[in-house]
Amino acid sequence: MKKTLFDKVWEKHVVVSETETHPATIFIDLHLIHEVTSPQAFTLLEDRGLSVRRPDLTLATIDHSTPTLLNKDGSRPYVSDEARIQVDTLLSNTKKFDIETHGWDSKYRGIVHVMGPELGATHPGATIVCGDSHTSTHGAFGAIAFGIGTTQVGHVLANQCILMRKPKTMAINVNGELNQGVTPKDVILHIISLIGIGGGTGYAIEYRGNVFENMSMDGRMTVCNMSIEAGARCGMIAPDEVTFEFLKGRKYTPENYEDSCAEWLSLSTDEGALFDKEINIKAEIIKPMVTYGTHPGMGIPIDSTVPQSSNPAEQASLNYMQINEGDKILGMKVDKVFIGSCTNSRMDELRAAASILNKKKIAPHLKALVVPGSAQVKASAEKEGLDKIFKDAGADWREPGCSMCLGMNGDIGLPGELIVSTSNRNFMGRQGPGVRTILVSPETAASTAIAGVVEDPRNLKKIK
Ligand code: SF4
Repeated sequence: MKKTLFDKVWEKHVVVSETETHPATIFIDLHLIHEVTSPQAFTLLEDRGLSVRRPDLTLATIDHSTPTLLNKDGSRPYVSDEARIQVDTLLSNTKKFDIETHGWDSKYRGIVHVMGPELGATHPGATIVCGDSHTSTHGAFGAIAFGIGTTQVGHVLANQCILMRKPKTMAINVNGELNQGVTPKDVILHIISLIGIGGGTGYAIEYRGNVFENMSMDGRMTVCNMSIEAGARCGMIAPDEVTFEFLKGRKYTPENYEDSCAEWLSLSTDEGALFDKEINIKAEIIKPMVTYGTHPGMGIPIDSTVPQSSNPAEQASLNYMQINEGDKILGMKVDKVFIGSCTNSRMDELRAAASILNKKKIAPHLKALVVPGSAQVKASAEKEGLDKIFKDAGADWREPGCSMCLGMNGDIGLPGELIVSTSNRNFMGRQGPGVRTILVSPETAASTAIAGVVEDPRNLKKIK
C-alpha cells in the first residue's frame, strides 16, 4: 500500500493503535521544554511522585521571558518577578531531573524552535512535541511535530508517550516559479489567506512541489512554523539533500549519518499515495503579503486593498486595527518594526533584512528591533557583520529570545501603535495592550523600517 510521509512516520511510533473509543498511544522521540509551560507540568509530576521517564530525550531552553537587553553591569532586567521565577523554576527543575538545559551560559540558548534544529536534535522521521504552538516548525525536517498543552507536557515527562487521534492528510502543492521579492513567509501567508485559519483543522499538511524543494531549511522552517495558523495539527516537508546538508556535523546528528540519510530518504511520500485532501497553487500568483486584521488568515498582497467582509468578527478586527475596507496597507505610517521570532530570526532572514538596510537609515520617527533567534544565530550574524549594519541603520540589536513576538519579556508596543512584525500572530494585544500588528516578511519589515510606512520591498530593491 502506498503511503504518505505522515503515514510512514506515524506508523513507526504507534505503541498502541487507536480504537473507536480510545486514541492511539504515540511514542515521542524528542520533548522540548521551556520556562512557560513546564513549571505546572513538573508540579504535576512531583504531586504524583513520578520522575522524568526519559531525560535523555528531553531538551530545555529559556526563551519567552528572557530580557533581550542587559543592564550595564551585565545583570538581567526581568520585566517582573513572575518572569524571573519562571526562568529560575525551569532551571531548577531541569537540574533536579538531569535534563540537558541551555540556560544563560549556553552558547546554544535560544528560541526553542531555533535552537533544537541548530543542535541537530530535530531529526527526520521523528516525533517531536513541546508545550508551544509553533512546534510545527520542526516538520520542515520531515518530523511529526506539534504543540501540546501543559497537562500533556506532564504526561510526556512521565511516560514519553502521548495519546492522540490520527489526523487526516492534506497535500499543499506549490509549483512554478516564485516572483522576485516573494519569500517563504509570503508563501505561507498566501496559503493561510487562501485556506483560512480553519482550513487545516484536523489535518497534517505536507508541503509539496518544486517551490518547497528549492527552499533552504530556514525557509522551510518559516513555512512549517505557521501551519498551526491554518489550524493544522502539523506541517511537514519531505527530507532531502537540503535537509541532510543542514544536519551534517551538528551536535546531535546521528553517528551513523550516512545510514540515517538513506533511511530518511525512504520516508518520502510514495508515488501515487493518496491524501485526504489536495490543494494546488501556482507559484506565479503569489506576491509579497501583508496582514490587515487580527488573525494571520486576514492577509492580502501588499499592493492590493482591504477586502469587504460581512463577517462580524472580521468587522471587529478591522475596528481594532483602525483599518477600513478598501484601504491600502501599503503606505500606512508605522511606529515600530520587529524582525525576529521563531518564524523569521534565522540567518537567511537576517541576511535578507541586512541587505536592504545596508548603508541606509531607518525612519527617524520609528523604532526597529532586530532579535536573533539564538545565541548561535547572534554569533554567526556578528561574524558576518550584520549587527553592524543593523546598528548603523539605527536599529536595536538585541540578545536572543522571543521578544516582541509575544512580549512576555516586556518588549511590547504602546497602546494604538502600529507594528510591522516578522512574527506569526497578529492577535489583538499580542504585542501589548491595544497594539496593532501587521505580519510581513523580513524584506518587507526592513523596507518599512527605512520608509517609515509600510513599504513594498520590490520598490526599494527596484524590482518590478
Ligand atoms: S517566538 Fe513567538 S511564536 Fe515562537 S516560540 Fe517564541 S513566543 Fe512562541
